[in-house]
Amino acid sequence: MLTIDVSEARVRPGQVFTQHLIHLPKTGDLDDEVGLEEPVVVDVEYSFLKGVYLVKAKLKVKAMMACGRCLEPFTCPLEAEFYEQYDTATQVDEHDPDANVVIEDRIDLTEKVRAAIMGVVPMKPLCREDCPGLCSSCGIPQAEGGCACVKDDIDPRLKDLALLMEGLKKKGVE
Ligand SMILES: [Zn+2]
Ligand SMILES: [Zn+2]
Repeated sequence: MLTIDVSEARVRPGQVFTQHLIHLPKTGDLDDEVGLEEPVVVDVEYSFLKGVYLVKAKLKVKAMMACGRCLEPFTCPLEAEFYEQYDTATQVDEHDPDANVVIEDRIDLTEKVRAAIMGVVPMKPLCREDCPGLCSSCGIPQAEGGCACVKDDIDPRLKDLALLMEGLKKKGVE
């Protein structure tokens, strides 16, 4: 559970407080959809004003993902932030799962953090911007040497060599 204690803010309306949270997602509360590599670091700013709590959070996390092109697993750094308003339990139904409620001076940020992370998970994550992906013939990742297939979109400087090889094959001189 990622919670903050906002009791100080309640007794000092208008003042902004900060908390630096380091949360290990080992308990399965955050990492069920993306594999989180390291603790989630959340910097929270909160204040109490006119009966409501204002919470601003910035979070950083490293997620383990499979590259959308070469399918290799890699560590993807993610950053997200959210801004929420919370009411005291007397103002809203504390059993309403969608309500942002402060219970006994504590705010549970777990769901908001999870949603924020899911919001920044890329649809097609890439291990690197220029990941060459997999060979369309043999399926071997093209990074680090790749495969031995001869391709149509070959480097023009190698094209002559490829034609030469073709010619040799036809002559049976392999
Ligand atoms: Zn890749
Ligand atoms: Zn290949």
